Amino acid sequence: MANETTETLIIGAGLAGLSFALHHPGEALIVEATDHVGGKAMSERFDGYTFDVTGHWLHLRDAGMKALIFRLLGEDHFHRIERISRIWSHGVYTQYPFQSNVFGLPPAVVHACVMGAIEADRRKGDVRGAADEPENFADWIRFFFGEGIAEHFMVPYNAKLWGVSAEEITSRWCQRFVPKPKLDDIVAGAVGLNASGVGYNASFLYPKHGGIQTLSDALADEVGRDRIRLNTRVTGIDLDRRVAFIGDRTIAFKHLVNTAPLPDFLKGINGLPAEMAAARGRLRATETPYLNVGIEGPLGQPDHWIYVPERAWPMYRVGSFSNAVPAMAPPGHSSLYVELADRATPAEALVPRVIEGLVAMGLIDDPRRVRFVHPRRIPHAYVVYDFAWHDTTAAIHAWLASQRVQSIGRYGEWKYSSMEDAMIDGREAAARLAGGSP
Ligand SMILES: Cc1cc2nc3c(=O)[nH]c(=O)nc-3n(C[C@H](O)[C@H](O)[C@H](O)COP(=O)(O)OP(=O)(O)OC[C@H]3O[C@@H](n4cnc5c(N)ncnc54)[C@H](O)[C@@H]3O)c2cc1C
Repeated sequence: MANETTETLIIGAGLAGLSFALHHPGEALIVEATDHVGGKAMSERFDGYTFDVTGHWLHLRDAGMKALIFRLLGEDHFHRIERISRIWSHGVYTQYPFQSNVFGLPPAVVHACVMGAIEADRRKGDVRGAADEPENFADWIRFFFGEGIAEHFMVPYNAKLWGVSAEEITSRWCQRFVPKPKLDDIVAGAVGLNASGVGYNASFLYPKHGGIQTLSDALADEVGRDRIRLNTRVTGIDLDRRVAFIGDRTIAFKHLVNTAPLPDFLKGINGLPAEMAAARGRLRATETPYLNVGIEGPLGQPDHWIYVPERAWPMYRVGSFSNAVPAMAPPGHSSLYVELADRATPAEALVPRVIEGLVAMGLIDDPRRVRFVHPRRIPHAYVVYDFAWHDTTAAIHAWLASQRVQSIGRYGEWKYSSMEDAMIDGREAAARLAGGSP
């Protein structure tokens, strides 16, 4: 096939790549390895069900992004949904977030959580500013919430989610995402005066039909489908010659914007300096295996998602698309996604124990109501914020900037962030390029 030229080449048609193209006034071409746009923000259909890549709920904080999304799809495309989310542990449900809602747990657990929080509050008095906060996430949890909340929820839940122990990661990732209630709120929550609407995700938007794919499709339509090349995987890059390889073809570019996972992208660069190859080796992420589950009849619980912190269960979170939007399942049916903490055992082997859990959680009353279970995996789902993360990513991005490359988005930048963040990344990268850098 003929070789091509474009002014700006964008690797990846996820939200970051699409948003870059949409905000970039000049000529640009997106190459996408898979047969669809959206990246992680995609939906698959099966037998009348629509599944996203686990829960993809839309939290919009940026006025510009909200205006853009409503302009493309119309406000009426979305339901505005008040979060229903609980924690299931010790065989009972408590409200989210755990730290300010321990009422209902066994008395000894409530006692440990409250006493731990009082102790933590006393200790916090000696600390001046953010610089004195513990670096290690496990210590940070104990520092802010105390021993009981750490042991009964935060430490085991986060170990299941991240696939590494909380001692191995820094507290940097969580400032925005982990609600930090005051002692008063913790005590109020322990006696049943539950705070509601706490945290960054107290309400969210979700398409009335078609799943989150409809957002990605709307962005792709606005960009222009002729500017997006599907089934086109970048296999190598020569930064000196400014060409990307697609198998044995080349695309020459002036500017390069990458949204593919940073270690994969670096691996493809011809003659990557040894220092960068070593830095690449320090980038860590965990895979997330999950199950798409179709259920006959309604679910016994109303939640959009439920946290499962106990180590005895292989799943760390169970969510339901159809509880948020019934059209995500055929009439009279329901759907679940089950995110698995056990990454080593083949997902198929975990299914019987998961179904036992769904019954114990009161989601279904009879295992025979499970119509199908489809195992899936998300490679690089969560970037691990270990102690090398900050310096390593800073060094890599500085080197890439010196090569006039922007690497953006959740995986291009190598961070924990939302769909809206990915779109903001695209917009900001376009502005940087328009402003003459890199
Ligand atoms: C389990 C999970 C749950 C989440 N839940 C939510 C949520 O509820 N709400 C929320 O706001 N966010 C959520 N997110 C975050 C959200 O999915 C991401 O922030 C966002 O979709 C990232 O977009 P991106 O464009 O940066 O990356 P991606 O979506 O990964 O896009 C990168 C694209 O690059 C392509 N690509 C890779 N390699 C190549 C190559 N060599 N050549 C060409 N193309 C290539 C990929 O196929 C992909 O399409 C969740 C993420 C995960 C993992």
